[in-house]
Amino acid sequence: MAEHYDIAVLGAGPGGYVAALKAAQMGAKVAIVEKHHFGGTCLNYGCIPSKALLASAEMLYKIHDCKSLEITVDGKVSFDWDKIQKRKNKVLTKLRGGIKGLLTARKVKQYAGKAVLDGVGKVNVIGEKGTESFTAEKIILAVGSTPARIPGWPTKPDLVCTSDEALHWKELPKKLLIVGGGVIGCEFACMMHEYGVEVTIVELMDSLLPEMERSLGETLGDVFRKRGMKIYTGVKVESLTEDKGGIKAVLSGDEKLEVHKVLVATGRRPATGEIGLETIGLEAERGFIKVNDKMETAVKGYYCIGDANGRCLLAHAASAQGEVAVENALGHDKAQTRPIPGAVYTFPEIASVGLTTKQAKERNIPIAVGEFPIGYLGKAMAVGEEFGFVRVIRSLEDDTLLGVHMIGHNATEIIESAAAMLTLKAKASELGEMIFAHPTISEAVKEAAEDSFEKALHMPPRKITTLVADSNKVG
Ligand code: FAD
Repeated sequence: MAEHYDIAVLGAGPGGYVAALKAAQMGAKVAIVEKHHFGGTCLNYGCIPSKALLASAEMLYKIHDCKSLEITVDGKVSFDWDKIQKRKNKVLTKLRGGIKGLLTARKVKQYAGKAVLDGVGKVNVIGEKGTESFTAEKIILAVGSTPARIPGWPTKPDLVCTSDEALHWKELPKKLLIVGGGVIGCEFACMMHEYGVEVTIVELMDSLLPEMERSLGETLGDVFRKRGMKIYTGVKVESLTEDKGGIKAVLSGDEKLEVHKVLVATGRRPATGEIGLETIGLEAERGFIKVNDKMETAVKGYYCIGDANGRCLLAHAASAQGEVAVENALGHDKAQTRPIPGAVYTFPEIASVGLTTKQAKERNIPIAVGEFPIGYLGKAMAVGEEFGFVRVIRSLEDDTLLGVHMIGHNATEIIESAAAMLTLKAKASELGEMIFAHPTISEAVKEAAEDSFEKALHMPPRKITTLVADSNKVG
């Protein structure tokens, strides 16, 4: 007789493994199926390996910049790429083991292999030792996504690759073209430049990080250009062809580039194609499985979380959705409507939560925008991290805090104070009234909130006419 579970989770990325842990914690009999490594894209090909490689790159950057704090480094500063890769791999192995340990400690049954749905309530797992089957009351689809590739472009992974390969490169290229200036493209550019790679980014939209508050991407573009990277925005890569052992790229406007490698960072596609959705009558839209705020799909008893539902392609979104799906699967009533912060781990860091000015405009919400330069702060000057700003967006109608966007030192940690206030549906005035420790960079969040009322004390007075947002002016 096939084993029966209360809940089965397909995929052990940050969505799936968190869902499995939550379900087991709530007393359910749980199975999880993973065809590759625990931790999914995030741990093996995404968040963690990229941050490990970025950490060494940032250290190099800081050493080269240490004169600003009156430190002299005598002699050559160098790095060992092979050892940097090994350190990164060690981190991944440790974290994978940690997830396995957590699942085992909560008695979650772990299946290794590819899960395929086989009619309502039934799952086949195709593994190395053959096919195993089990049944489950509720099934959570957490199969994630894979990098998009452009049809017609060369497919040799040592010439044209995606982040999956680039994070594990044995050797660094001399000249790298990054197609796509979104989060992944920018993080790679920042890292590779520090490792001595000649970086060019080509982005189709008219600024880097096109999905974020516009001024963040524009500011990052200026920073990258000053460091010597070539940044094209509003430009399309028309074609890529193999040429003399490298790649020749033709851009719109007919400019030609010759590079040694190309990283395609143009987005991700849901990995839902081969999981047997047709056997349960569940249809996907362009591969994404549509869900409501409770993570329920159109088929009763089936939930979909994380990248595969296309709502928000971030690890913490997947985990949050996983917990919500489990609560609903076990008879509770939960919806995921909380704001989800986004972070970009370039140096300077970038972070955002809530609405952008463009989104507010699209929703016809009249807004005021406050902004505070990080460089005005005592802490920023003291630690030599004066670059950047915080922007706070509030509703002009009822002062509700709508969004906070920042670029600068530790932005990815600081954004949580704003995320907490947005989660609590606070007013911008309440953010301004919060007491932030001094000296901190976080004080810029308070000042920016106060600036949205023309009340920032550590800035000369400003008139609201310059603050009322018209996204064409301030986006
Ligand atoms: P995944 O992590 O993709 O996990 C899905 C799992 O399901 C995989 O392990 C896969 O092997 C398994 N699977 C698929 N099909 C089957 C099947 N049929 N049977 C069994 N198992 C199956 N997000 C952030 O929040 N912060 C970051 O800093 C960040 N950095 C990133 C950097 C890069 C380079 C990339 C590519 C992504 C980054 N992301 C980041 C995005 C993040 O990795 C994803 O949003 C997150 O991993 C999605 O989680 P998930 O659980 O939905 O899917």
